[in-house]
Amino acid sequence: MSDTNLKTYGEDVFSEKAIRANLSKTVAAKLIATMRDSKPLDPTIADAVAEGMKKWAISRGATHFTHWFQPLTGGTAEKHDAFLEPTGPAQAVQRFSGKNLIGGEADASSFPSGGLRSTFEARGYTAWDPTSPAFIKRHDNGATLCIPTAFCSFTGDTLDMKTPLLRSIQAVSRAIERLMGKFGQPKAHVEITLGAEQEYFLVDRRFYMKRPDLLQTGRTVFGAAPAKHQQLEDHYFGAIRPRVLKFMTEVEERLWQLGIPARTRHNEVAPAQFELAPMFEDLNLAVDHNMMIMEVLRQTAERHGLVCLLHEKPFAGVNGSGKHCNWSISYGGRNLLTPGANPRENAIFLTVLLSIIRAIEMHADILRMSTAGAGNDHRLGANEAPPAIISVFLGDELNAVLDAIENGRKEGRSRHETVRIGVDTLPPLPKDTTDRNRTSPFAFTGNKFEFRAPGSSQNCAQSQMVLNTIVAESIDALCDKLDGMKGDFNANLQKLLRRQVTAHKRVIFSGDGYSADWPREAARRGLPNLRDTMASLAPLKDPRNIALFEKYGVLSRTEMLSRWEIGMEDYHRRIRIEASIALEIARSMIRPVVADEFSRLASALGQAKADGLKAGIRGLTALSMKLGAGLDDLHVKCDRLEREIARGKHESQLAAMGDLRRTVDRLESLVDDARWPLPKYREILFVY
Ligand code: ADP
Ligand code: MG
Repeated sequence: MSDTNLKTYGEDVFSEKAIRANLSKTVAAKLIATMRDSKPLDPTIADAVAEGMKKWAISRGATHFTHWFQPLTGGTAEKHDAFLEPTGPAQAVQRFSGKNLIGGEADASSFPSGGLRSTFEARGYTAWDPTSPAFIKRHDNGATLCIPTAFCSFTGDTLDMKTPLLRSIQAVSRAIERLMGKFGQPKAHVEITLGAEQEYFLVDRRFYMKRPDLLQTGRTVFGAAPAKHQQLEDHYFGAIRPRVLKFMTEVEERLWQLGIPARTRHNEVAPAQFELAPMFEDLNLAVDHNMMIMEVLRQTAERHGLVCLLHEKPFAGVNGSGKHCNWSISYGGRNLLTPGANPRENAIFLTVLLSIIRAIEMHADILRMSTAGAGNDHRLGANEAPPAIISVFLGDELNAVLDAIENGRKEGRSRHETVRIGVDTLPPLPKDTTDRNRTSPFAFTGNKFEFRAPGSSQNCAQSQMVLNTIVAESIDALCDKLDGMKGDFNANLQKLLRRQVTAHKRVIFSGDGYSADWPREAARRGLPNLRDTMASLAPLKDPRNIALFEKYGVLSRTEMLSRWEIGMEDYHRRIRIEASIALEIARSMIRPVVADEFSRLASALGQAKADGLKAGIRGLTALSMKLGAGLDDLHVKCDRLEREIARGKHESQLAAMGDLRRTVDRLESLVDDARWPLPKYREILFVY
């Protein structure tokens, strides 16, 4: 990197450059080969690698190291150990061994395991993932060497997001290799790529501190919509305010040091909402990088007197936040989702495309599962982009191509001319589908698919793991069918693709995903519409899905069931926390203010009457009646919510919370602005 503003790019990563500078030639070569080919590390070089890594980390200011992993909480976890080894009284050296590098023990009992871990066996293990390079995390007083690891239980069951992701990458890579073999392609490296667009909100810390709901749950459970929110559509791509730009610049500087290719920044649709998009990378690395992006966003915000909200729906009535996962497959460096330059490449493109369409059509339920969560329920299935129905958007040109394949016509020419895949020139394939349909959950965008259902706070590993697995199954199924067909390959492929279009086209939808007609139409097509967390977790227990994930060695039956249990538990806990904080705010912050205001009004009214005033009586009477009714209402709604919390049924808790919210939000407009105890939407969303 010679460009001056990129001087620091990647300097906090144990990159190939750092490896060469800190390890002997042979050790460096072995380690780099391990990293590039995802091979197991030669154990005889572990000590030498650790020594070089330590030297490098110390030169970068590190005093500690940690295995960095992604437990099923959705976040990341770390436990720091100093590079410290006492060598005698008041004497110590800085030590870090191959053993420290390769594996670690972490008490698994405090991480969600969904019944996988029996209480008497609380040990968990972390194992180095050499395919994602070690990096340095900084804080004001030093730095920590972070080693990306997988996390599993004593019995070898996975307790993290990374392990199944790595397994799924292997599964889809094998399937692609098999398919490419059928097309007579030479063996080459398969790379699954991800570019994750991260949406987030920024709010001023002073407001945040006064909102117990934001503090405890990441979202506001009360707050009336301000007069102006996003209806003028003036925020999206608008000029970025200096304070925000200052924050963004610092975020990028830090990300660049970590070798994270943050590239795009802009205002999003909702006020106070923004997006950061890095350049796509190898999937496993991109997932780790997204986890770091979220952390850097949060930490940097703090230094700027701001708070970064990653919740899917911090504010009712304005857009929520997603994490668009742009996913593709490359083979020997060529993107397989780029329409090709010749008939063979086009045939490969169409085969991969139809495999994906088949995968989504057959496994929409488990793909929807990968986006389940209390926060995301406010987006999916709640009249917001995208809907909970998983459909595929292709664009007009590709729709026409599929149509031509199905009907055996060459697009735009004589009706009976056959599109012969791989032999004839196909109809010219679109280079870029520009007619973007923002309402589709799974859209083809020219050279990749964009999965828009994942929530802003979720680990993308979950959805990517599912996507890889179902696509692997689909490609294998097509390969099996080709194996079973005799005769000319091209003719067989032609027949097969044609059948795929007919069998799976019901998942393709180009219309408006928000429209009220779509759920009805989708039901007619038999597409699942899993509206909430409970419904969308259920596919984890479906024997058909269990068989699929076991077949590909991505998740075992026990691992799937444990994930169901963890998801359900997390969901119930979150709803309960939200309900409890809503009740507490309503009773201890809102009610006293309303009661006080009411009593002030009532005594003013009494006074006015006693003084025989002619004017003001009507206004005071009307207002005190409204406030009085609101106060009664508040009392009733709070009691009801309290009962529902005790009963513990999530639907009723949610309904009671919604009811209470309507009352509180109405009162917000009746009570003296100066006395209202919570910062309002019009302040939080606009003042920073
Ligand atoms: P948009 O219009 O959706 O912003 P962009 O072309 O800017 O589209 O891409 C958005 C994201 O998609 C970026 O993170 C980009 O790096 C990523 N992307 C582009 N090509 C690929 C690919 N082949 N595989 C995965 N992600 C990709
Ligand atoms: Mg996008």
